[in-house]
Amino acid sequence: MEKDTILVVDDSDIICSIIKGILESPSLHIDIVHSGEEGITIAKELHPTLILLDIIMSGIDGYETCRILKNSDETKDIPVIFITGNNDPKSILKGFEVGAADYVSKPFIPEELKARVKVHMQNIKNQRELHILMQELKEMAVTDYLTKLHNRRYFMEQLQVFVTESTSDIFLILFDIDNFKKINDIYGHNTGDLVLVTISKILKLLLRKEDILGRWGGEEFMICLPDVTENAAIDFANRFRQEVGGYHFNCNGTVFQCTLTGGVIQYDRSISLEKNFTKVDQALYVGKSSGKNRCIYSYPK
Ligand SMILES: [Mg+2]
Repeated sequence: MEKDTILVVDDSDIICSIIKGILESPSLHIDIVHSGEEGITIAKELHPTLILLDIIMSGIDGYETCRILKNSDETKDIPVIFITGNNDPKSILKGFEVGAADYVSKPFIPEELKARVKVHMQNIKNQRELHILMQELKEMAVTDYLTKLHNRRYFMEQLQVFVTESTSDIFLILFDIDNFKKINDIYGHNTGDLVLVTISKILKLLLRKEDILGRWGGEEFMICLPDVTENAAIDFANRFRQEVGGYHFNCNGTVFQCTLTGGVIQYDRSISLEKNFTKVDQALYVGKSSGKNRCIYSYPK
């Protein structure tokens, strides 16, 4: 695990070594600098977990240093604890006004310094954990749990953005795995899931970075291809179909293959998103009812 770092900014060597002596622990890295200017540079470079900042220093003082740190995006989230010999309320208040999280008075009571540092380090850790959790939740809301592809909702949002913000031609492909129910019946649901995951991976590998792929429903996948010609879109669709069709799945030694049927349309901006989805669904249906394992392009009227 990465060590937490405390940056001590104090122009007195003696104070710095006292702080180091009090806080030193194997899980902590302590950096020491002797001026506000250096403190700002090192804070930007090392992004310490916490800063202990002296108020009275030659050059820029602690208040000004803190103000600069709080005004910079790189350092504004690092808590600053002032080290102060001035215990008058005015100086303390000024410290809080420029953005300090706390203060400790000189001379130090070792247990107090340790306790205050510990509280702020714990706060930072909690905030980090919360941030990670929020990111995970956000990711979950747009991801299909099984295939890890974008889910239908996210696909629709992305497509809507694309349709509104660009003027380029967009093609939609809707794929459905042929006879998927049979695969589940013969090989079991775990194998069915494996088929879904594997096909997702194959499609993902073949896509360009500007394409959008989503799990549309049970065994359906929707692809948005921007900036392609009609012929290229049909070629893409057939290539996806052939790659998946050529893959050999293995269920406890039994090898089997899966085919895809696809509907392809050019996105029509003159009708709604939903109507475009209906159109691509109809093209897919034509493919299904005319023998499967094929891609049907529905020509614009
Ligand atoms: Mg000083």
